[in-house]
Amino acid sequence: MTYTNLELASMGKVPLADELLGSWEIVPNPHSTSQAERSAALVDLGFGKRFSDHMAHATWTAERGWHDFRIEPYEAIAMSPAGAVLHYGQEVFEGLKAYRHADGSIWTFRPTYNAARLNHSSRRLAIPEFEHEAFIGSIVNLVRQDAAWVPDAPGSSLYLRPFIFASEAFLGVRASHRYEYMVVASPSGAYFANGFQPIDVWVEREFHRAGTGGMGDAKTGGNYASSLLPKTVAHDAGYDEVMFLDATMGTDIDELGGMNVFVVMSDGSIRTPRLTGNILAGCTRSSILQLLRDEGRDVREETLPIADVLAGIDSGAVTEMFACGTAAVVTSIGSLSSRDFHVDLPGHETTKAIYDHLTGIQLGTVEDTHGWLYRLA
Ligand SMILES: *Cc1c(COP(=O)(O)O)cnc(C)c1O
Repeated sequence: MTYTNLELASMGKVPLADELLGSWEIVPNPHSTSQAERSAALVDLGFGKRFSDHMAHATWTAERGWHDFRIEPYEAIAMSPAGAVLHYGQEVFEGLKAYRHADGSIWTFRPTYNAARLNHSSRRLAIPEFEHEAFIGSIVNLVRQDAAWVPDAPGSSLYLRPFIFASEAFLGVRASHRYEYMVVASPSGAYFANGFQPIDVWVEREFHRAGTGGMGDAKTGGNYASSLLPKTVAHDAGYDEVMFLDATMGTDIDELGGMNVFVVMSDGSIRTPRLTGNILAGCTRSSILQLLRDEGRDVREETLPIADVLAGIDSGAVTEMFACGTAAVVTSIGSLSSRDFHVDLPGHETTKAIYDHLTGIQLGTVEDTHGWLYRLA
């Protein structure tokens, strides 16, 4: 098999966490949450609602490059109302998790994939790149500082959100001359409130999230902004998620706007849309493809016309579909609907097996044959 540039970049060697300690200056939060308060906060987690006591923060200027690497108190940030990101959306982000294993140790999953992807996104948005080692260093030092915020309930984790935004106070249209890199950490439970429940998906025909030459394969807020109106309409109509089709012909499955899509066939083969440039190259997608290939499964990355998938569901050739991403891991798709069709997907067996395999690796209960786990603490 051939690897993508992100997969190749993610195989690079990274120093052990201990060697990265001290690479970020620690400025402790004088108002850190008390243990009692934190224990209470870690009970009913939800997703992305609570934040730990610290955040990572570095700044880029043309004169100094990236500098002032600090783990500092989590607090509101001051920015000029003319800050470029507020006007032109020059921003990229990442998402990864810190998992607590049964022995209390803390791990993350393929962090160099995220480091490489952050730079891939940054290049598209004319943002200066951030070194892999500094990226991993920010995660290591933040998680060590806020280790008590890594929950241990089943399905829970400390969700890490690295991001870079244009902070120069300037309204002219050009790439900013100042940027902030930050990581915030959010103790989180399962992404979907009702656990491993199949989701109902609305297939969107009117709006697209990204088109050829756009930013579809960059992890940037702008793509999410364009998905929010269709998502709101679909939510109001009772659907959990929106599936976007390609913007050129409107015939082929792209992704869910925050999750990649897989189709399981009755002959045991598995298909997923190929990386056209309009799709975000998910780390979860990459990991699932690798695990299925390890098993000798027939896995294909190809154009998936929605009409063929609907016909396949009708004929029984398609047995399952699922969506995947770091936040929600692997989620079974229970139905697909649009103005002129509604189909149910009965099976979830293969999806559940993939979910179990992947989460098993992440939680240290299934062998990690690819060296994807990275010990943080
Ligand atoms: C982050 C993201 C995904 C999933 O990527 P993972 O690396 O698996 O978390 C899929 N689609 C979009 C648009 C995304 O932003």
